[in-house]
Amino acid sequence: MPETRELLIVGSGPAGLTAAIYAARANLNPLVVEGLGAGGQLMLTTDVENFPGFPDGILGPELMAKFREQAERFGAEFVTADVDRVDLVRPPFRAWVGEREIIAESVVISTGATARLLGLASERRLLGHGVSTCATCDGFFFREMPIAVIGGGDSALEEALFLTKFAASVTVVHRREELRASKIMQERAFANPKISFRWNSAVEEMLGDTKVEALRLRDTVTDDLFDLTVSGIFVAIGHTPNTSLFMNQLDLDENGYIRTGPSSTSTSVQGVFAAGDVQDHVFRQAITAAGTGCMAAIEAERWLEDQRHAAFPA
Ligand code: NAP
Repeated sequence: MPETRELLIVGSGPAGLTAAIYAARANLNPLVVEGLGAGGQLMLTTDVENFPGFPDGILGPELMAKFREQAERFGAEFVTADVDRVDLVRPPFRAWVGEREIIAESVVISTGATARLLGLASERRLLGHGVSTCATCDGFFFREMPIAVIGGGDSALEEALFLTKFAASVTVVHRREELRASKIMQERAFANPKISFRWNSAVEEMLGDTKVEALRLRDTVTDDLFDLTVSGIFVAIGHTPNTSLFMNQLDLDENGYIRTGPSSTSTSVQGVFAAGDVQDHVFRQAITAAGTGCMAAIEAERWLEDQRHAAFPA
């Protein structure tokens, strides 16, 4: 038998869990399908130093555990699985999780985004054998070894700085000669004696049979090839929104992010709201994700209220 909910939340990063806290406190009895990657990208981070309220910083997984605990305290329920399929054409909405069918009067989508890869065959082959997208998860395996980080944004420098705790050396490989990362991260990276930079360098190939042995780079100015000896390669070149479930059901932008707003988390389908990185390619911060999660829960509550008034006018 399908179960019916006033609010279904899909995804459990800062956006989904904040929506769960607000919705649970509004007595909407939310069900959170938290996904197999529960907690989202902060589960793959180390120190979070910019989340207000934690002057000494907090570990990403610890912060997410606190969010979840707070949502549970007010009665949010959790399913630790991925949603397989949804029907969001019109309310009531439907979602399938394995054998379980959920009928929901409103939905908050907070499925986040996933780390991008370069798309090389050698990268795919060596993923998990020296190639990684998560320094927190895999940095430990590269004690006293030379490592490369690909990318020039905050993620790349954050990974590089974290990896200096383990690695013998960290080379940041960037395709331009100017970083995209914030000034404070640049200053920290430039000041770290274990970090060096290879500018104007595109990755041609990742070398090694069963494990990473080197990175073949092409100088984008001279076209020269150069092999950099490394044991680990961390790819940190941005993210792709997790929206494949919603294709042809919701309006997405040219990069696949859910279109929302203006000044709202409403999507192209009334009663369906989107919060966090799945709809935000600009800020992508835990605090902004939490903010839009709060907005989504309040907007869902108001929308449900309006439906009740429409069905039973005073
Ligand atoms: P990003 O800012 O989009 O940076 C991606 C980097 O990867 C860019 O330098 C880009 O090069 C490079 N890149 C993209 N595709 C590439 C390819 N195919 N080959 C080689 N290089 C490629 O992504 P991000 O670093 O993940 O950061 C995303 C957002 O999260 C940002 O707003 C950032 O501020 C935020 N963030 C903040 C923190 C923090 O405050 N501690 C930590 C992590 C992330 P180009 O520069 O040439 O485009």
